[in-house]
Formats: sequence, C-alpha cells, structure tokens
Amino acid sequence: MRHPFHRRTGIHLLASASLFCLTACADTPAIAEAEPAKPTTLQTAAQVMVDPVVTVRSFDDWRADFRAEALAQGIDPQLFDRAFAGVTPDPDVIKADRSQPEFSRPVWTYLEGALSNQRVSSGQRKLDEQRTQLDRIEQRYGVDKHILAAIWGLESNFGQNMGNRQVIRSLATLAHEGRRPTFAHDQLLGAMDILQHRDIEPERMLGSWAGAMGQTQFIPTTYNQYAVDFDQDGRRDIWYSAPDALASAAHYLQQSGWQTGQPWGQEVKLPKDFDYALADSSIRKPMLQWAELGITDAKGSSFPASLSEQSAALLLPAGHRGPAFLVLNNFRSIMRYNNSTSYALAIGLLSERFQRGGQVLGSWPTEDRPLSRSERTELQTLLSEQGFEPGGIDGIIGANTRSAIRRIQQQLNWPADGYPTPELLEQLRRL
Ligand code: CA
Repeated sequence: MRHPFHRRTGIHLLASASLFCLTACADTPAIAEAEPAKPTTLQTAAQVMVDPVVTVRSFDDWRADFRAEALAQGIDPQLFDRAFAGVTPDPDVIKADRSQPEFSRPVWTYLEGALSNQRVSSGQRKLDEQRTQLDRIEQRYGVDKHILAAIWGLESNFGQNMGNRQVIRSLATLAHEGRRPTFAHDQLLGAMDILQHRDIEPERMLGSWAGAMGQTQFIPTTYNQYAVDFDQDGRRDIWYSAPDALASAAHYLQQSGWQTGQPWGQEVKLPKDFDYALADSSIRKPMLQWAELGITDAKGSSFPASLSEQSAALLLPAGHRGPAFLVLNNFRSIMRYNNSTSYALAIGLLSERFQRGGQVLGSWPTEDRPLSRSERTELQTLLSEQGFEPGGIDGIIGANTRSAIRRIQQQLNWPADGYPTPELLEQLRRL
C-alpha cells in the first residue's frame, strides 16, 4: 500500500517530477524501465506538488530543528536520539528521488511481470499457508482474500521484498533535501509516532527508499490510520507478522469503500464501431446500460443479472486495439491503495490467477511502442499549441491530456480512445 507515491522504483514521483522537467529533463540520463505510473494512495493533487524550497541548511541544522519540533509534539528525547543515532543523508535515496525515467514499460510488459507463473504459484502456496488467518481476515473486513494475497504479492513479493532501508534515514534524507520536503517531513513525524507507540524498534523499521514500509508498503501516515494488530500481540507489525500486514491491507481496502462479494471487474468484448470516447474513468454506467450498448463478456455472453445495477467504467489500458475491461467500484478501492489502473488491473487478474482464471483473451498491441517521456511532453506541447488544452506539460498522460487526445482524434476522425501513440505524435508534428 502504499503509500503514496512512492514505490521502490520511484516512478510514482512522476507527478512531482514534472515541474522540474521543464528545466532538468533534457539532460536527464535515460533510465529504462519504469512501472506504469504509480502514484499512490492518499495522495492529493496538492501533495504531489513539488515544494518550491531549495535546501541550504546542513543536515545537522535540519536535524536539530526537527528534533525540537518532534519533542514539542511529544516524542520522547531518548527515543528520538536512538532513532537518529548515526543517521546521515542517504545518497541513494536522493538519486532515486531525482531520477526521471525516460522510458516506461507498456502495460502488457508490466502485467507479464506482475502475473508471472512464479508469483502465481507463490501466492497459491501462501494462500494455503495463511488460510486460517486469511479466512478470519476476510470475515472481519469483508475483503476477498485473493485480492489481499495479490496485494501482498505485488507490494512485497509476499513479504520477501519490503525494502531494506532504514525508514527514518530515508525519510530524514527526503525531508532535508528531497523534492517534496513537506511531505517527507510529515511522514517522518508519522514514523516517529509509530516508534513511540512501540510497534517496532527503529532498527527493524525497514522500507523502500521513499519510506513505504513492511509487507504492505504503507507509508507512515497510512500506517497510523489503518494498520491493525490482528494477531493481538500488542504491536501493529506489518513487517514481521503476515496476519497484521494482511489485515492492515484489508482494513485499508474496507475503508476505501470495498464492496463485499462484488468483483473488481472483468474483461469484455466491444461491438464493432463502438464509440471509444466512452472509455473514460469519469463515465460510469450500470452494467445493464453497457450491455445495451452491445458490450458482452470476453467470450461474447451476456453479463449475469446480479451485476445489472453495478456501476462500471470502461477501461482500455492499451487503447482501442488492446483488450477492454469493465471495472466496478472495487477497482477504484484498489486504486486508493495505489493510484494506477495498471496496478489495479494486475491485482484483479492476479487474484483470479490464484484461482486458475485471470487469463486475458484479447490481444495486446505489442507492436505499439509506448511514448517516451520526452515524446509525451512534446505531444502535450503540440496539443497545447493546437488549442486542445492537455493540462500541464509534464509528460504525464492524465485525464486532461487523454481528453485533449480524444478531441483531436475526433477531429481527425480516428478512434477516440484517448490513447497516445507515435502515429498521433507524428500527425501532430505535421499540423
Ligand atoms: Ca501484532
């Protein structure tokens, strides 16, 4: 869970990176590979903004001020000094924070990794090992255990990879000289609260470079709001207790509006000449209405009557040439955990793979090359110059850019799927 935007790969910082891009991107070394945008949970637009502060203070000066503030908020001085003993800025964290990946993986490549046979079989084994606890958690929070196992699998490879950095050191580094010091500062205070609560010792409080912690990859504020002590040993231990981690994820999803017994969504088949402009997360209709537009399940059958009233949005993760999905409310709950449609799709499909389903029948347009960051920025610039109002010029294809792309696609009489392609960029260059 995330925690807000930070994932170990760092891409979630995409949004915050964007402002810097105008000045720094051109000479940013290309970094191959990035998970599909992973902004994460609990992140508001305001939080994503880069703080316009340039750090000039030394780390020692910063720490002295932070110590005073933490103590004023009730943090025990001895605990503070123990947590900060020997803590110096971590250059790797700074490097990760400032990386601006030029290339991103297409969704099908991301899914291939997320749904690997190894992850599926590990998950099936873990579901078996934790069956008793998972059944209790499912009963308590009403969240499908296969979804919980999928989150566990993608966040930390079932607890095998939760990051091995000291959370206090990472967050202190980011609070001192990261791109979003205010956010990191608040997370660091949250982390001090966790230590003060005696949930974990400072030395064992490990996480990603961005401060996403434990088997659920919660950031401290998410932890403080949602972590639970499910095994009742007196500590909310998302690091070393699988039941605590899984129940904390379940609690978070429950609080994010999870609807018990409802699916996340499903692959569908669109009729010929479908109006692709309807594939927009802001357009939600009851399944019945989608069916009336000619949409069927992936095999061409009608949807079960039980879903008729369920509200759904149409998702085309790779544009009109790729597979289509109708996604229900629980898909949005998963996106509260990690604000990426690719992530939520991977979770939904992985949860089904554990049960021997989850195969995508449609074919991915693997010959399509995803646009690089520079190309996305150029696309936005050209859209803007042509009066299509793509929102910020930040290399991030968000709702405004997608809607601008739809408008020009409609003008060109192309399928209006809002999906950026090299062909569209080429066309815009010629206008
Ligand atoms: Ca516990």
